[in-house]
Amino acid sequence: MATETAGAHAALHARHRAVLPDWLATYYAQPIELTHGEGRYVWDAEGNRYLDFFGGILTTMTAHALPEVAAAVAEQAGRLLHSSTLYLSSQAVELAERIARLSGIPDARVFFTTSGTEANDTALLLATSYRRSNQILALRNSYHGRSFSAIGITGNSAWSPTSLSPLQTLYVHGGVRTRGPYAHLSDAEFITACVADLEDVLGQAGGQVAALIAEPVQGVGGFTMPPDGLFAAFKQVLDRHGILWITDEVQTGWGRTGEHFWGWQAHGKAGPPDILTFAKGVGNGMSMGGVVARAEVMNCLTANSISTFGGSPVTAAAALANLGYLIEHDLQGNARRVGGLLKARLESVAAGLGVVREVRGRGLMLAVELVVPGTDQPSAQAAGLVLEAAREQGLLIGKGGRAGNVLRIAPPLSLSVAEAEEGAAALEAALKAAQTALE
Ligand code: PLP
Repeated sequence: MATETAGAHAALHARHRAVLPDWLATYYAQPIELTHGEGRYVWDAEGNRYLDFFGGILTTMTAHALPEVAAAVAEQAGRLLHSSTLYLSSQAVELAERIARLSGIPDARVFFTTSGTEANDTALLLATSYRRSNQILALRNSYHGRSFSAIGITGNSAWSPTSLSPLQTLYVHGGVRTRGPYAHLSDAEFITACVADLEDVLGQAGGQVAALIAEPVQGVGGFTMPPDGLFAAFKQVLDRHGILWITDEVQTGWGRTGEHFWGWQAHGKAGPPDILTFAKGVGNGMSMGGVVARAEVMNCLTANSISTFGGSPVTAAAALANLGYLIEHDLQGNARRVGGLLKARLESVAAGLGVVREVRGRGLMLAVELVVPGTDQPSAQAAGLVLEAAREQGLLIGKGGRAGNVLRIAPPLSLSVAEAEEGAAALEAALKAAQTALE
């Protein structure tokens, strides 16, 4: 870094620390200032180019600076930047029609929000109102956002600052299965154990429970992979009690997992959920989220309400262009094909490295779980070292996991085979550097 730009960067970092909250997470000892992007690449203020293996934060679904999305945004912004839910919007109606069809939920209604947190907050409002109960079931190790109520259903204290939740949350198993008493169970045994846990928790609940909210694949939790069919088994129990199923598709939607458009579809027999929430990738990074529910549930709220920004014409135009591109170019199929190749490549890299415990995932939602080399002990330090070393290699990746020891790989779904290979080679070098540093 040239001295002048290094000085400007240090000054910006100091100003950031002085005015933004201490609890705002950033990656890297010297956080990167991104200035522009194209395709699967982004550039920083010093002119360094990075292959973005984290797709923004699973937000850049198709590609950075996709011309179709940029043109739709510019065209709409030049005509009408804002219109609230007080007025009709052809963009919002068309997008809602499209998402309602894609959701698989019968007689679906769509409500647009500006984030995943607000979408989940709304889902909780609907479920608690519909069921007249503030008891919610969530999975251990879950992350659903940072509002007052979303924090109340977060199953890991590391991501959930102390707060007095308005909800009474009961946690069940169904997320992490790579450790603890669940680690050695077969898929069928794991499902049986989780269902038994759900029954046990319901037996302890006083009065009726409103809903189970769950990420089909836990995102911040480290791309845990529950066995297919888990949610179908859960749903049988929920249906007996009239409990709603909310699927949080903020990370798993739009074909990210390759085989399915939504994460819940991996649980075939489960049928559609009662409520589905989405955000992140829908607008390719524009701040949009939403809730889909069947009319009976969505319309259980009777008071008039508005949203000032939800579904505004510019974000809706971006989402329409983005989803159009995604479907027309079968990026879900690309995620399946390129993701499969990338996973196989990472598995062969991992085979020779004691710092890697497991490579898992599907489509372009892949995880590399790290340990202290030669042990089974989770290593958040290893994840930090790999992130820094990957940056040196020109590669951005994410991290997460219950112990902060999981690398998260979720590039834009348009990733090419050559880019997958470039990223895998950079990650291999970074993993080797981290392993050497830890030995
Ligand atoms: N739900 C899941 C599964 C998430 O991963 C996140 C964010 O990471 C959220 C909800 C919250 O979304 P947002 O950050 O847009 O509020």
